[in-house]
Amino acid sequence: MAASLFLGTLVAAAWVGAGCATRPGLSWQRYEFERPQMGLPFRIVLYATDGQVATNAAEAAWKRIAELNSILSDYEEQSELSRLSRTAGSGRSVAIGPDLWRVLIRSEEMARASGGAFDVTVGPLVQLWRRARRQRVLPEPDRITAARAAVGWRRVELRPRTRSVRLVAPGMRLDLGGIAKGYALDEAFAVLRHQGVARALVSGGGDMVVGEAPPGERGWKVAVAPLDAPGAPPARTVWLRWASLCTSGDLFQHVEIGGVRYSHIIDPRTGVGLTDHSLVTVIARRGITADALATAASVLGPVAGIRLVERTPRAEALVVRSVESAGKLQFEMAETRGFRGWELRR
Ligand code: AMP
Ligand code: MG
Repeated sequence: MAASLFLGTLVAAAWVGAGCATRPGLSWQRYEFERPQMGLPFRIVLYATDGQVATNAAEAAWKRIAELNSILSDYEEQSELSRLSRTAGSGRSVAIGPDLWRVLIRSEEMARASGGAFDVTVGPLVQLWRRARRQRVLPEPDRITAARAAVGWRRVELRPRTRSVRLVAPGMRLDLGGIAKGYALDEAFAVLRHQGVARALVSGGGDMVVGEAPPGERGWKVAVAPLDAPGAPPARTVWLRWASLCTSGDLFQHVEIGGVRYSHIIDPRTGVGLTDHSLVTVIARRGITADALATAASVLGPVAGIRLVERTPRAEALVVRSVESAGKLQFEMAETRGFRGWELRR
């Protein structure tokens, strides 16, 4: 069964390489590994001075990602997340492991910071819209109303003393598709570091976490793809070090019904898939933050989205949105004050 909980992210960013493989006088060697994980192509690029170190580190990182998928996936019936969702409305409080706990704590912080635009309790709505995508029929309004009754981040009770969770409303279903991949990338990078490899990049479906720059480089050169629409503003290039870059948008994952394109990202306030075409790129220190912020800013739109990222320490964002006006496509662009710093970084 496809364990692809992290369907969310589109391939909007591409690592475009940093020329040198080996530099004279230095024994750094570049190693590349690829593997499907979480239903998406994942990639590790690292520099090491020893092939065995490189292979062992990559293996350990793959293992960690697979482990996290088996905990955080809503596609896997037996994941810790799915088991937790099945206790919704029972009144029971369930003790959970450290990974799920960390992701739920960060999810709650993001829900609060974004005024509920980011909300991992959207599970029942995601289910409805996944079906709409398969059948190409819009969900009936009363089904959206019923699903919304089981959505609401304030109805997830997190109890730190016992590290346990109670899902208050019956039918609640958690979906970590907007945040868990970022966490998995952080953790995979942490494993590499633990194995002595810091000059590394881990990416999954276009989102990435990077550490120290490749030898002799100022960073990992990453092209931030433009919005896929004729006349969209061109790609930008950033140089990343010790950072994460995540994107969100409706490019690959959407359904078109009655001439309207609905995104896989849902506005929890309406229960409806987003209908504006946008591409949000967020750079933050950690993947868990960049991933969640990108999803949140997609829901909030350029103005409130950029405001949210400006309020988040050490995070920057670029939002491009296409708007149709008098039959013509126009583009709105917004970015945080520090985004350009990543383009110029030396
Ligand atoms: P991303 O590509 O990171 O923006 O994640 C999109 C995925 O997050 C979707 O496929 C859903 O699984 C989930 N999701 C959809 N809407 C929301 C939302 N408003 N808040 C949090 N997660 C969401
Ligand atoms: Mg996200």
